[in-house]
Amino acid sequence: SSSTPNINKMATEQTFIAIKPDGVQRGLIGPIVSRFEQRGFKLVAIKLVTPGKAHLEAHYADLADKGFFAGLIEYMNSGPICAMIWEGRDAVKTGRTILGATNPLASAPGTIRGDYAIDVGRNVCHGSDTVENAQKEIALWFKEGEAVSYKASQFDWIYEKA
Ligand code: GDP
Ligand code: MG
Repeated sequence: SSSTPNINKMATEQTFIAIKPDGVQRGLIGPIVSRFEQRGFKLVAIKLVTPGKAHLEAHYADLADKGFFAGLIEYMNSGPICAMIWEGRDAVKTGRTILGATNPLASAPGTIRGDYAIDVGRNVCHGSDTVENAQKEIALWFKEGEAVSYKASQFDWIYEKA
């Protein structure tokens, strides 16, 4: 209809999704991965990493002047992080929708943060906010060749048109 123009033509994108140390420690890798799988997105890279403070400061460089920055870096450095790349149509914006709002108390039930978190400083997951930032974050967290290329067997059952 005219209210949904070109909905099948939105671009295939890659987004950087991370399960933060609280999410890993709370056993939420499976549930979080499942939500992206069940939605129809394709996993193209996944690894468990403890990248250290300098890397985490680079990841959150835009927030360096915030009062919560030191605590944020400490939180992110407190245990392993599950770093992933998910691919699919409109994956960046839809990934953010699946995560929910930054503040879990403002996140609707049915979102990851709305189902699994309470405090903004323990909000279990990260997702890129723009296509440009997704590309930067993927380049920061993954080496060339770590993202695999394959056709998902369910592709034709998820998309009407490629
Ligand atoms: P996101 O893109 O939804 O993750 O939100 P931001 O990019 O604005 O912030 C990055 C992360 O910093 C958030 O996911 C929170 O973990 C943390 N954060 C943001 N705002 C606050 C805050 O006001 N207090 C604390 N303690 N942490 C915050
Ligand atoms: Mg952000």
